[in-house]
Amino acid sequence: MRPPLRFTTLAVHAGRRPTPEDPDLSPPIRRATTFLQHPAVHELTDAGDWSTPLVYSRYGSPNASNAEEVLAALEGAERGVLFASGMAAIHAMLLHAFPGGRGTVALARQIYGGTSSLLAKALASLGFEVIPFDVQDRAELGAALAAGAGLVHVEGLSNPTALLADIPRIAEQTHGQGALLSVDSTFATPVVQRPLELGADLVVHSATKALAGHSDVTAGVVLGSAARMEAVADYRKLTGAILDPAAAWLLRRSLSTLGLRVEAQCRAASALARSLAGRDEVSRVHYPGLPDDPGHSLAPNVLRDGLHGSMLAFELAGGDERTRPFVSRLRLAVDAPSLGGVETLVSIPHLMSHPGLSAEERRGVGFGAGCIRVACGIEDPEDLVADFSAAFDER
Ligand code: PLP
Repeated sequence: MRPPLRFTTLAVHAGRRPTPEDPDLSPPIRRATTFLQHPAVHELTDAGDWSTPLVYSRYGSPNASNAEEVLAALEGAERGVLFASGMAAIHAMLLHAFPGGRGTVALARQIYGGTSSLLAKALASLGFEVIPFDVQDRAELGAALAAGAGLVHVEGLSNPTALLADIPRIAEQTHGQGALLSVDSTFATPVVQRPLELGADLVVHSATKALAGHSDVTAGVVLGSAARMEAVADYRKLTGAILDPAAAWLLRRSLSTLGLRVEAQCRAASALARSLAGRDEVSRVHYPGLPDDPGHSLAPNVLRDGLHGSMLAFELAGGDERTRPFVSRLRLAVDAPSLGGVETLVSIPHLMSHPGLSAEERRGVGFGAGCIRVACGIEDPEDLVADFSAAFDER
């Protein structure tokens, strides 16, 4: 008996091996939109199975299936279903959790602004109700569940402050009331955290970020049990938001190096967070690797291999008006939204991911004035630290 394969090995070998009939080491990009239907396919489709056989590109493609298999292996899920963006994946997941198209969602306050807007703007008209709760507050979640929430949705490491959620505790509370727990694991990636192993029912990613990892693919994925993912795939077939084969090929290619990239990003984040914490110009650093971060003591229970993630945020003493001038003095880190790429990006949450929030709402999400979010890339940590130090010193 051979031992189960470890993460970086799975990232290279899961999903497909070359064979004499299919010898390419790198799989071909198969662009066909439609496929020959023959008796073996008829047998499956006549029985209602439209996802196993190749039928039509909106239902599935060899490249999408290949990337889905690798993603499922890395996340420890029975199946993954790929979408054309993270938002399309979140949309399908929220509708899937409520097949009747109506439900009450307990939504962590510390969440990506796009997710709360999706619920508030698009899904409210379908009858969705949202009960916000503080991800650290057991009583607030308890009240949301008592009020009838059928789905609890959190981010394991939240946008923008990398606040750590206690997923095992939240899963226990959620399941105790018969509800489901979904986790947006975009910030963490399966290198740093695997929510299904911690008790979550569903995982969703913006694969645009570290999974694809090179700032050149827009994609999303929902992962979970085979039965739940069959319903998600059926919904995708109806609504048509599948990922294109060429984008799926790029995503699968990138997954081979996911572990290497994310570990390098985590090293950079850790060095930068420690350096920022020592600066007088910085009033607060949000990073679970720092001993005074609210998530620090929880980290060993919910994060893998001593890693603390690639994302951090810090607050400039002096407030919002300092943020744009500071960012403009950076020479390596690029002022751009998104995260998880090979290059370090900075963004100003109150202008980008969380626009229009009052000071109090911002505090609810967990960040104060002068906040800058940093998505670390794979540059040498010393060069990154030097870039930020120079941006302080060159004022
Ligand atoms: N979830 C999180 C945590 C995000 O940061 C984002 C985008 O920034 C999304 C979901 C949406 O993903 P996409 O832009 O791929 O639609």
